[in-house]
Amino acid sequence: MSKLDFSKLKINTVTKLFILMLLYEGPKHGYEIIKTLSEILPFKVNPEQVYPFLHKLYKQGLTRVVKVLERDKKVYELTSEGREAVEMLLERFSNLIEIAIAPKVNVCAGCGVKIIGDGYVEVIDGKELHFCCKHCAEHYKEMKFKIRKTQKSV
Ligand SMILES: [Zn+2]
Repeated sequence: MSKLDFSKLKINTVTKLFILMLLYEGPKHGYEIIKTLSEILPFKVNPEQVYPFLHKLYKQGLTRVVKVLERDKKVYELTSEGREAVEMLLERFSNLIEIAIAPKVNVCAGCGVKIIGDGYVEVIDGKELHFCCKHCAEHYKEMKFKIRKTQKSV
């Protein structure tokens, strides 16, 4: 695996991410990319946001020019290194998305099992406790009560 430095590429805008996605789809020239981006993004895409980035990708060996059309329109294609980079980037983004949407996980105060979300909540001795089920809560209170009883009798 090549040591690709993402910080050098500065994938800090949606536009750049989409440029990479479009190139991942197949070879395209700059104007084609701008046109497609304007259709799918909710804001205006300037050529200044696209051409310098395309040039950067080319300079870093992530793309190659497969064809030069009329009026010097260069058709870029991702190199195998470029495809790998995009795949890495996608993986990274999907991890971030997973983290962002991961539901809150609690642990049952009774049995220690993991609960997705709040589970069964009961306030015991002024403390909000999460349980996987009502029975665990009952059991927990029972145990606590027993311990108190024995402590009192001592
Ligand atoms: Zn439980």
